[in-house]
Amino acid sequence: MDFLTEIFVLGMPVIAIAIYYFAFYNKSNDDYWRKLPTLPEYLAEHPECVTDDDENARCCHCHSDKVIFQPLTCHEDPRYKHFCLNCKRVLFRSKSIL
Ligand SMILES: [Zn+2]
Repeated sequence: MDFLTEIFVLGMPVIAIAIYYFAFYNKSNDDYWRKLPTLPEYLAEHPECVTDDDENARCCHCHSDKVIFQPLTCHEDPRYKHFCLNCKRVLFRSKSIL
């Protein structure tokens, strides 16, 4: 292996790890996510938001039941944020079990 190939082979995993790190574990993203309440914490604070679905809740701001979730960063991110489709406010967090 010549020197440049070696740099390339050794460098790729480092670059991949760096991209992974910045996409998933970017500190401000993670801090933001950790500050969101979990569903049980959210429901404890807003008992009026309990719904029939024990995996979901109503919006505590506008009382809409259109609360949807999406990954915090990219598709592979196991951290989810749940937000109100009506008023667009982020309500609580969850983590994919995968
Ligand atoms: Zn709302």
